[in-house]
Amino acid sequence: MGAAVKLESSVERFVGAPRKMLIDGKWVEAASGKTFETPNPATGQVLARVAAGDAEDVDRAVRAARRAFDEGSWARMAPAQREGILLRIADLIEKHADELAQLETLDNGKPFTESRHVDIPAAAGTFRYYAGWITKIYGETNPSDPAFFNFTLREPVGVCGQIIPWNFPLLMCAWKLGPSLACGNTSILKPAEQTPLTALRLGELLLEAGVPPGVVNIVPGFGETAGAALVRHPMVDKIAFTGSTEVGKEIHRETAATLKRVSLELGGKSPNIVFSDADTDAAVQGALLGVFFNAGQVCCAGTRLFVEQKLHDKFAEKLAQTAGGMQQGDPFDPATRVGPLVSKEQLDRVTGYLAAGKKEGAKPLIGGERNTEKGLEKGWFVKPTVFTGVKNDMKIAREEIFGPVVSVIPFKDENDAVLQGNATNYGLAAGVWTRDVSKAHRVARAIRAGTVWVNCYNVFDVVSPFGGYKQSGYGRELSSYALDLYTQAKSVWIKV
Ligand code: ADP
Repeated sequence: MGAAVKLESSVERFVGAPRKMLIDGKWVEAASGKTFETPNPATGQVLARVAAGDAEDVDRAVRAARRAFDEGSWARMAPAQREGILLRIADLIEKHADELAQLETLDNGKPFTESRHVDIPAAAGTFRYYAGWITKIYGETNPSDPAFFNFTLREPVGVCGQIIPWNFPLLMCAWKLGPSLACGNTSILKPAEQTPLTALRLGELLLEAGVPPGVVNIVPGFGETAGAALVRHPMVDKIAFTGSTEVGKEIHRETAATLKRVSLELGGKSPNIVFSDADTDAAVQGALLGVFFNAGQVCCAGTRLFVEQKLHDKFAEKLAQTAGGMQQGDPFDPATRVGPLVSKEQLDRVTGYLAAGKKEGAKPLIGGERNTEKGLEKGWFVKPTVFTGVKNDMKIAREEIFGPVVSVIPFKDENDAVLQGNATNYGLAAGVWTRDVSKAHRVARAIRAGTVWVNCYNVFDVVSPFGGYKQSGYGRELSSYALDLYTQAKSVWIKV
């Protein structure tokens, strides 16, 4: 499988030599000297070797972030100056968009068109949006007894440990660093072990933009080692985590010991509900986007596709037919819609779910297996899969699969759709397809999820909050809500 685009020379530099980690403004090896491999999911070949951070590296990074916060200029800088630095970060991401998108696609496997036209611009936009907030984070003067003057300051939380997943590597860096830097915090960012490359390249751009040493430290490594050390470290004030519900619960437990602030954006099993009065063609396209975008490796993927009984068979057929027309293959081919899964582990996990679904009686109308066509056999490709014959209590309808797999499930009426849609431990997102505006409003309110899309799916904008109900986590990222995660109010009383 050959890349259809010519790689930027800087990408070759980046994937060629072992990559170091960023601590206190310097690029350093792991204290242990250990490295790990990051492979190309489309070919299974090793792409780069990366310094494997562990407890000692995390400790050095946390101390640097602590010093930068307690003694450095970042939190004390004039807001307009910090704004200028965040704007420069956005500009640099845009300037290097081709290179970053290539690195992202090589490391994660997602189609280049998605990296280049979705992830990278959104990452730049996130920094730019939070740059704008820096001069607008206000405290209040409060109507206290006039014997006193009382006001609030919104101060940064301090040292933030930010642990991110592999499905949107650079974008998740921006979702975490944009608001935390805007509010004057310092960070230790741990990228996912599967996809560390764009975070490390971003580290270079942060320094170039003028982020002072120690303000952002980037420590690649594994979850059980680097991640766990960050969660436990007593000098860390806050953990922001995006990842699985299982690890989120572990972090919730672990952080109790030091009472860190925590925000968690976790898994989902989102209902996408199609009523028989919907625009069927639009709903098919929306269902496809909802579940096959990023090969289904999206926490808000609409994996439980509820279709009103009388439309069910026709809709499932049409969906399968349209899904069958999506090209799967080389992520650098502009025609490719579905790339490989990120790792061998993810491949095994998803194919395990395919087997479990079939065993419980679900029928794949299309897909249902690994794709080992010529040219793809060494990569981690799973065919887009549409299951019918699924009941809402089957394993494939309850657990997060994180692959290109959708279960089509019939429902009787509006009440039944809401009941089945809400019958999950998760509550990240939902979709509703109908031409009846009253029904759209009723169902949007009745669904217990942090985001509801009506006659659309997977729409994101930095101006709108994103986060979970129930076991999909707590805290809201993006928009002004994220500022609440990274600031705390101080009440100051002056005797008049
Ligand atoms: P997935 O199963 O999809 O890989 P994870 O929740 O395991 O999702 O991983 C998301 C992020 O959390 C990654 O950066 C990973 O290294 C990190 N991580 C995994 N386990 C832990 C842990 N015990 N403590 C802290 N971070 C962890």
